[in-house]
Amino acid sequence: MVNKEVWEQLNDVFTPKNVLLIAVSKTKPASDIEELYNLGQRDFGENYVQELTEKQAQLPADIRWHFIGHLQTNKVKYIAPFVHLIHTVDSFKLFAEINKQAEKAGRIIDVLLQMYIADEETKFGMDEKEILSFLDYYDAQKSQLTHVRICGLMGMATNTDNAEQVSEEFLRLHNFFVFLKDTSFFNQDYFSICSMGMSADYESAIAAGSNMVRIGSMLFGKR
Ligand SMILES: *Cc1c(COP(=O)(O)O)cnc(C)c1O
Repeated sequence: MVNKEVWEQLNDVFTPKNVLLIAVSKTKPASDIEELYNLGQRDFGENYVQELTEKQAQLPADIRWHFIGHLQTNKVKYIAPFVHLIHTVDSFKLFAEINKQAEKAGRIIDVLLQMYIADEETKFGMDEKEILSFLDYYDAQKSQLTHVRICGLMGMATNTDNAEQVSEEFLRLHNFFVFLKDTSFFNQDYFSICSMGMSADYESAIAAGSNMVRIGSMLFGKR
C-alpha cells in the first residue's frame, strides 16, 4: 500500500527547496512502484541487485533507478546497463569495476562516495581521510577512469533518538561535501549531490544541507 497523501506532502516541502525525493521501494512489489509512478514519481531506490534487475525489466523505461545498498564488485555488471546513480561507492576496487562495466555498456555512470558518519559498526562507507586518499588515487588514474563520474556524497546517520547527534553527523557530512565542492578538484557542474536523510531523520538532514533524501517506509509502509 502506497501513501499518496504523504507523497504529496513531501513534495510540497521538497520542491521549493530543490530537494530530490528518492522513493525507496526495496522489498515492495512492482505494483507499489507503479502507483507512485502514476502520480509522477520517477526516482526510485533499491538495495539488492537481483530485486532491482527484476523490477527494472517489468517497469517503465523512464524510471531513474538509484542503487543505495551495499554493492559487491561481482554484481556491478548486472546494473551497469541502466542504473542512474550508485550512492554507495566505498572502495576504489568497486569504483574501478563500475568504470569497467560502464565502458562495456557504452555509458558514463554517475556515483556518490559513501561517507561513514554513524556511530555504528554495521554501516559502510569511508571517513574523511579515506575519501581524501581515494581522491588522490583517483587523481593519479583519472585519464583511465572516463566512464564514471563522482557527483557527490551519501551518508547515513546513527539510528538513534538523540536528535543532536543525528544533526551533528549530517553537518559533518555536509561540511565535508562543501569542502570538496570548493576545491578545484571537481567539475562544479556535476559534483552537486549531498544524499542524506531517510524517513526518520529527513528533516534534520535537510536542515543540515541535504539535497537528496531517500524515503521508504513513510511512503510504502513498514517493511
Ligand atoms: C532502506 C534505506 C532507506 C529508506 O529507509 P526508510 O527508513 O524506510 O525511509 C534509505 N537509505 C538507505 C541506504 C536504505 O538502505
